[in-house]
Amino acid sequence: METLFNYFENITSQHRSLILVGGLTLFWLLEGALPLFKFKYKKWKHAVPNIFFTLTTIVINFSLAFLLVETSDWVQENQFGIINWIPNLPLWAYILLGVLLLDFIGAYLAHYVEHKVKPLWMVHLVHHTDHHVDTTTANRHHPLESVIRFVFTLAGVFIIGTPIAIVFIYQSLSLIATQFSHANIKLPNKVDKILSYILVSPNMHKVHHHYMLPYTDSNYGNIFSIWDRLFGTFMKLDPKLIVYGVDTFPDEKANGKIGMLLKQPFHKYRKPTSLNASK
Ligand SMILES: [Zn+2]
Repeated sequence: METLFNYFENITSQHRSLILVGGLTLFWLLEGALPLFKFKYKKWKHAVPNIFFTLTTIVINFSLAFLLVETSDWVQENQFGIINWIPNLPLWAYILLGVLLLDFIGAYLAHYVEHKVKPLWMVHLVHHTDHHVDTTTANRHHPLESVIRFVFTLAGVFIIGTPIAIVFIYQSLSLIATQFSHANIKLPNKVDKILSYILVSPNMHKVHHHYMLPYTDSNYGNIFSIWDRLFGTFMKLDPKLIVYGVDTFPDEKANGKIGMLLKQPFHKYRKPTSLNASK
C-alpha cells in the first residue's frame, strides 16, 4: 500500500500519458472485438473532435495542476479536511475514503450541477452531442467544462484533505473508469449488472447518453455507482432502446465539427425533451 502511495506521489507526466493512451488503445481494440452497437461510422473521423477535446482537457489540467499541488500541500501541513480529522485511519482506508469522496465531489457532484444549472448544461452539452458514444467520447469536454470540473476537484481536495498521491490515484482511476464506461463494448449481462453495484458499468453509463429525458438526467457517476444508488439518480434502460445524442440538438454534422462544438455553449438554452411529456 505504501509503495502504491509513494509511486503516485511522484508519478511522472510520461506515466500519466501512458495511462491515457494505453487505456484508449485497449478499449479501442476491445470495441472491435466485443461491440455493443455495430456502428456504421468512420471511427477515426469520429475520433478527431473527441481527441481534440481530450487534448484541450490535458492542457487545462496540466496548466492548473500547480493549484492541486499547493492545496494538497496546505491541507497536509495543516491536517485540514475530512480524512485528516478521522483519527487512526489505516493507510488503505485513508486512500479508499479519499478516492471515494473525490469521486463524489470532483465527478458526481460536478456532473449533477452541470445538468441542473442552465448555462453549465450548455457547456456540458458538447459531451452529450456525440451520436456514436465510444471510448473517445470519455474526454469530449468543452474547455470551459474542463475548468468547471477542475474547480470541483480542487474544492474536493480542500474539503476532503487529500494528499497529492491520492489526487493522482483518483485521477488515474477516473480516467480508466470513464474510458471503460464510454467504450462501445458489450460485457456479459450478468457481469455488467454485478459490476454496476459498485462501479459505473458500460451499460449503466450508456443510459445517461440517451437522447431524451428523464434518462439524460440519470447515472451521473464516474468511478463508483454508489452515489447514484444513494441519491436516487440510478436508472436502467435496455441498451437496445438507447439512442445517443440530445434530441434538441439533432444536427449530426454540426455535432462532429470542432468549430461548431466550441460555439455550442453559446446557443440558446435547450434541454432534451422529456419522454413522459411527449407521450
Ligand atoms: Zn452528462
